[in-house]
Amino acid sequence: MRAIVIGAGVIGTAIALELRLRGASVALIESNAEGGHTSAASAGMVNPFSLTPNDSPAVEFYWQSFQMYPAWVAQLRERTGIDPEWRVNGTIRAALTPADADQLRANSEWIRRYDPSVQLISGAEARRLEPALHPEVSEALWLPNEGWVHTPRLMRALHRAVQVEGVNLYAASPALSVEIRGTQVRGVRTAHGLVQGDAVVIAAGAWAGALLQPLGVRAPTEPVRGQILVLSDLPIPVGRILSTPMGYIVPRADGTAVLGATREQAGYDMRATAEGYAHLTQSLARIAPSLLHATLVGHTVGLRPDTPDHNPYIGVVNGYQGLYAAAGHAYHGILMAPATAQVIADLVLNGSTNLPIAPFDPNRFTR
Ligand SMILES: Cc1cc2nc3c(=O)[nH]c(=O)nc-3n(C[C@H](O)[C@H](O)[C@H](O)COP(=O)(O)OP(=O)(O)OC[C@H]3O[C@@H](n4cnc5c(N)ncnc54)[C@H](O)[C@@H]3O)c2cc1C
Repeated sequence: MRAIVIGAGVIGTAIALELRLRGASVALIESNAEGGHTSAASAGMVNPFSLTPNDSPAVEFYWQSFQMYPAWVAQLRERTGIDPEWRVNGTIRAALTPADADQLRANSEWIRRYDPSVQLISGAEARRLEPALHPEVSEALWLPNEGWVHTPRLMRALHRAVQVEGVNLYAASPALSVEIRGTQVRGVRTAHGLVQGDAVVIAAGAWAGALLQPLGVRAPTEPVRGQILVLSDLPIPVGRILSTPMGYIVPRADGTAVLGATREQAGYDMRATAEGYAHLTQSLARIAPSLLHATLVGHTVGLRPDTPDHNPYIGVVNGYQGLYAAAGHAYHGILMAPATAQVIADLVLNGSTNLPIAPFDPNRFTR
């Protein structure tokens, strides 16, 4: 089996690695010298519940991907010597208004069906755990099992792992089109020539929809720009994820913290803007005001690959033999990477998967 993966972000690289480890010959094609700018710019929360307002069929998949994380990052660390800094210190999801508190109470019921250790706590209890939290936080949901990774390190580990394991990397080689004979996939045409293969996986993040469209597949992907600030020298240290409807703070092992994130419709514009900075500092004043005195050490930007229903496309593309999609992971690509890689490797090599991918059918907008 010769598989070709288009896009070396967290999704494409995780898939390329999984296919290679299961014995396939794999080519990974990437437009840029180094792929996954958005993945590396991400906050790195591995939080199956905290960004999800309601229970939905997608949550079961988030939950299964979350459960794969410890083993997935451990094998990456062993293969590469690079530690993605997986930490499970939990999330405090804090209410800033009475309406937020009502929402938290409603959420706690369905979340406890997955994780009974999740509990509602008072504002005072939340501040005992995390003294930096705003004094007006009245109530919070404590999710002790949620975690995070250091995304620049995760991406370095993934890129190193595919090289160590013998994936053929075509960097700085934009994929121009998928080559088809009859209905069978034959390869991918790049700016530097044809790469031949029997299976093609489109994992091109926010650019995936444009690669699928000429094949008659309607799977729109829209970039949603996200800006984050990186803070150091925190006047009050933060050890857990602080999540609110205004934004979030994710600590890192070295004592720095990430403050996120804007959600902007700005096309493919990757600039860090003064407006983004202003939005983020206003949020910080509501979440943990003492951190306004931290040192600003970074301001980064990524383009989340969103879809009309905010669910990704994961699976077989109808009408072709050997064509697969794994894109549009929007707000959850870091969380969903291990399970997405399992699914695509299952489908490419065995033709079926046990993971619950029904909400992610890549053909749902084409019909
Ligand atoms: C500020 C911010 C915070 C976030 N926080 C979290 C979080 O806490 N937890 C979480 O789970 N998710 C989070 N996300 C979302 C997550 O980052 C994304 O869902 C994820 O990175 C998407 O990965 P990807 O591999 O699909 O896309 P990308 O990382 O964009 O990779 C796609 C790759 O495809 C390449 N490509 C495109 N077109 C072509 C072509 N024609 N030929 C070859 N290569 C091509 C691109 O160059 C790129 O390298 C966040 C995102 C942002 C922006």
